[in-house]
Amino acid sequence: MSFWKIGEKRHYPNKPIKCQFCDGDMVLRWSKIFAHCDYLHEVMRRKDAGQSVEEVVEALDNLPTAYSYANDMEYKCKDCGAVQIFGVAISHEQFKKFRDANGGSYMFIDLEEWNEDEKIAQQLKDLGYFGG
Ligand SMILES: [Zn+2]
Repeated sequence: MSFWKIGEKRHYPNKPIKCQFCDGDMVLRWSKIFAHCDYLHEVMRRKDAGQSVEEVVEALDNLPTAYSYANDMEYKCKDCGAVQIFGVAISHEQFKKFRDANGGSYMFIDLEEWNEDEKIAQQLKDLGYFGG
């Protein structure tokens, strides 16, 4: 079994992620899809050449698969604050699926998951981030 399973908007671990320092529970802080530098250079090259946003998006959707993509996710320990970033390689097709599922955003935070955790919700409330 793979460590990760593919969800609609990102990957999910098949088992709880434990902190390597204190064995505490780690939770997702952010997830994004990432295209390696060549992809961004291609965007800039096409924009500099005067292509519209629509033209650039269409062209990038049809790029050869020589470009590489990943779903990067940062997890944070609820107890000691250690962070761990996972970079799960994905195909160009998966890159497009995640991009479309996230409304065109390349980065998102699962606030709902944070608020479901009593300890984190209280920490955030105490800091004035949520609720009141
Ligand atoms: Zn820890």
